[in-house]
Amino acid sequence: MSVDEPAICVYCASGPVDEQYLQLAADVGTALADAGLALVSGGGKISMMGSIARATRAAGGRTIGVIPEHLMAKEVADLDADELIVTDTMRERKRLMEELSDGFITLPGGIGTLEEFFETWTGGYLGEHDKPVVMVNLGGFYDPMLAWLNDLQTRGFVSSHALDRLIVVETAADAVTELTRR
Ligand code: AMP
Repeated sequence: MSVDEPAICVYCASGPVDEQYLQLAADVGTALADAGLALVSGGGKISMMGSIARATRAAGGRTIGVIPEHLMAKEVADLDADELIVTDTMRERKRLMEELSDGFITLPGGIGTLEEFFETWTGGYLGEHDKPVVMVNLGGFYDPMLAWLNDLQTRGFVSSHALDRLIVVETAADAVTELTRR
């Protein structure tokens, strides 16, 4: 399975509906489409996941959703996706999302987003892929985690090589710029 144009996998929240987060997701979707990049997402229609998929399509971009069958009702499967891939398991979802994508963006999210982010980031650090990993730290959302990771680095628990691989930006536009210049 492959995607014709370059594709970016975006991890983001499936819960909050605060305007600033929905707007960020929409801005990322628009920026991806404007850059000729397809969106690979978790295939849900709610919260930031829905917002980014709708905005990508509205700007003329292609959306590929990957959703485990057991979450189709809970996350309200995005039946408008240009391609909706239904997997048997969460592990299969994550594998496909990673495989189909040429880079990753993590937006604010909860434990699902964090799990996906850490798997992708550590995978790159361990040499399982060499795709760029970008985090959008809107309004310092991830500051506490980044501070903790930096502290772990000074204490020898996290390598500086791993932290150097992580590209932290503040805006949707910067996230897409970072991905297109690599
Ligand atoms: P959350 O950040 O918790 O709102 O979840 C965002 C997305 O991550 C949702 O589509 C969840 O289904 C997904 N998710 C939750 N747990 C996991 C997991 N263990 N691995 C991958 N994705 C997950």
